[in-house]
Amino acid sequence: MEAAKNRKTALVTGGSRGIGRAICVELAAAGYDVVINYRSDEAGARQTLAEVEAAGAAGEICRFDVRDGAAAEQAVADIGARVGGIAVLVNNAGVVADGLFLMMSREKWQSVIDTSLGGFYNLTRPVLETMIPKRAGAIVSISSAASLMANRGQANYSAAKAGINAASRAIAAEVARLGIRVNVVAPGLIETDMIAAAPKEQIKSLIPMARIGRPEEVARVVRFLCSDDASYITGQVISVNGGMF
Ligand code: NDP
Repeated sequence: MEAAKNRKTALVTGGSRGIGRAICVELAAAGYDVVINYRSDEAGARQTLAEVEAAGAAGEICRFDVRDGAAAEQAVADIGARVGGIAVLVNNAGVVADGLFLMMSREKWQSVIDTSLGGFYNLTRPVLETMIPKRAGAIVSISSAASLMANRGQANYSAAKAGINAASRAIAAEVARLGIRVNVVAPGLIETDMIAAAPKEQIKSLIPMARIGRPEEVARVVRFLCSDDASYITGQVISVNGGMF
């Protein structure tokens, strides 16, 4: 992807499927060129790239593990050198490793924290460094309803996602005067691979809208938060959950 005049670049982590793919496509339709990060699913990332290009934007796929701080820093530097800066960062990559807390191994605990919260740190810090001289930028991170309510079996996931909410509020306050906005979207249950094993019928009964959400319904809120229409919104956690609470 070459630097294109008057076009802004968005970097989306975990863009090879699910909510991340929908965010890439939504941002492409809104006029951003999109860097699609992925960890292992190159075919999925290429499918996202095809959809980004079909939406009229330029894109590229970019493989690195968000848990690897050095790799994330290098990727941010490379993208900046090629396209002149990152206008929008979406921290979307996440994993689950559910289990009751008393039986939760350190490995299960750490893998979820390292991906969601570690990934948030690894990307947000270097991207902010590039946004500050430009006095502009938007960062949106995907947390979860689990960060705001009790979800049995998800102590690791809830802690990681609540960490994203809290860190985003703090960072938003630190950079608000520099023209950079930092927000969070907290989805409820969304139809992706991640919830393939979830007891959907049982969960549906807890959702006033009585249905599972679609990835595009999260992506549209992300697009709004990235846009100038959200120019006075920062440090917020916006729920997209069909009225769960
Ligand atoms: P999926 O499991 O469908 O997709 C996860 C994405 O994250 C994949 O693109 C995967 O890449 C990527 N990823 C995972 N680990 C890493 C890593 N270490 N480095 C880089 N990329 C990585 O999940 P969803 O689309 O459902 O979830 C997206 C986000 O939304 C997550 O943060 C999730 O926690 C959150 N969320 C999801 C909800 C839901 O109901 N689906 C509800 C609330 C929040 P690859 O395939 O290449 O490995």
